[in-house]
Amino acid sequence: MNNEDLFKKVVSHCKEYGFVFPSSEIYDGLAAVYDYGQNGVELRNNIRQYWWKAMTQLQTNILGIDAAIFMHPKTWKASGHIDGFSDPMIDNKDSKKRYRADVLLEEHQEKLRAKADKEVEKARARFGDSFDEAMYRSTNPRVVEYLNAIAHIDNTLKEGLETGNLGMIKALIEELGIVCPVSGSKNWTDVRQFNLMYSTQMSAVESGEDSLYLRPETAQGIFVNFLNVQKSGRAKIPFGIAQTGKAFRNEIVARQFIMRMKEFEQMEMQFFCKPGTELEWYAYWKEQRLKWHLALGTDKNSYRYHDHVKLAHYANAAVDIEFDFPFGFKEVEGIHSRTDFDLSKHEEFSGKKLRYFDPETNESYIPYVVETSIGLDRMFLLSLCAAYQEETVEGGELRTVLKLHPALAPVKAAILPLVKKDGLPELAEKIYNDLRFDFKLYIEDKDSIGKRYRRMDAIGTPFCITVDHDSITNDDVTIRHRDTMEQRRVKVSELRDILAKETGMSALLQKLV
Ligand code: ATP
Repeated sequence: MNNEDLFKKVVSHCKEYGFVFPSSEIYDGLAAVYDYGQNGVELRNNIRQYWWKAMTQLQTNILGIDAAIFMHPKTWKASGHIDGFSDPMIDNKDSKKRYRADVLLEEHQEKLRAKADKEVEKARARFGDSFDEAMYRSTNPRVVEYLNAIAHIDNTLKEGLETGNLGMIKALIEELGIVCPVSGSKNWTDVRQFNLMYSTQMSAVESGEDSLYLRPETAQGIFVNFLNVQKSGRAKIPFGIAQTGKAFRNEIVARQFIMRMKEFEQMEMQFFCKPGTELEWYAYWKEQRLKWHLALGTDKNSYRYHDHVKLAHYANAAVDIEFDFPFGFKEVEGIHSRTDFDLSKHEEFSGKKLRYFDPETNESYIPYVVETSIGLDRMFLLSLCAAYQEETVEGGELRTVLKLHPALAPVKAAILPLVKKDGLPELAEKIYNDLRFDFKLYIEDKDSIGKRYRRMDAIGTPFCITVDHDSITNDDVTIRHRDTMEQRRVKVSELRDILAKETGMSALLQKLV
């Protein structure tokens, strides 16, 4: 299965098996907004719980909060989102399509890069072993021309964005002859900055003064509560505050299913530490977060770190954890050393001191912050892409199986009476009623046992427990393992322990310490 096929299959599997639906689908959907179905919500809750427990239960010095989505409008002035959280947009007047101007330019650069590489490859074939690539790239007139054009785009884009001279960016698009991929025309509007925050009003009156924003990240709810949590929790530095919740961004280039949504969920942790120690904590969290991902059993070659070369002005280190999605390596999580930027800005805008009094040294200071920020929906997509498999089984039949980590699986076990008579459904129900207090289970007596197994494989249920005639006399059942399809006989009284050990979160969390 190639990557394009895998991605298409994951998307349609999500709909067919109740993981993800397009939002308001009966009205033809809403671009880049999605709903989670009966299995999706369970998987998503389990991922969130794995993160939450890893942060607030395993780490003794991390406290959780749940801040409101609406925040005082000054928050976003202080954080820089009102002035700086925007993308440069351009519209094509013929197709009426809107694009990110920087993305159009980057795509053009990719084409130039490909042309330069083609020249290099042709020369390599011509010169053979004696070929000196570096020399060729710096002297061949055509290659030099392509590379200069790429650098010219970088410089103009940077200058245009930094100085706010968006006319320069439009002129560059025209100079390069970039056409709209839909209409093929060069009939462009001016470039405008488009803020990604959604706004609304606090009161019924549209005055503009009481504009509220739907938060574009959860982090600010943590910063503004820093002292509340520190004091009420009697927390000593270093300590962290964790939060999960919805964030909203008016993403124009929304694509790749739930990878880039307008409404999504973040799981963020801000770790407050003494200035000067932040890079040690940054190294700690960089390692710890990858460990969290790998504990799920995902192939480690599917992950990589991507260190930021161009750092935001307030950061002194930043790295992305990237996953090899079917459409290439993409960011799933960011770890950023943000210095004292956010707390200092909130001090400045609120006029309230946000300092920590260190009882050991008797000094007050603004702590430095290392943050870890992961998108729950991206982690969901990652989990499905890594888990989706098609296997040919005995008799040539194809089985689709989601090899999710059992602790993440939406349903932990299915209780299946072999036939719909002879007291088997009743015994199955008794087992179900006994175990449902501890586990999310499924019970079904329709269809052949083979069909029922396949349906459970398709949603990633780790165990199928079959009740047959012998169960009535021997008080035992057959338990079938999703991945190996092996079956073994166990006593009914053993089921609780088996399910707890194999599908609970403890074993997973133990891998993190
Ligand atoms: P990208 O460069 O992909 O837009 P970002 O650098 O803007 O992401 P952050 O602001 O660092 O992302 O947000 C932290 C995490 O939130 C990201 O690593 C990603 O997992 C998730 N995230 C960000 N934007 C979206 C979105 N529009 N839809 C889904 N998840 C998102």
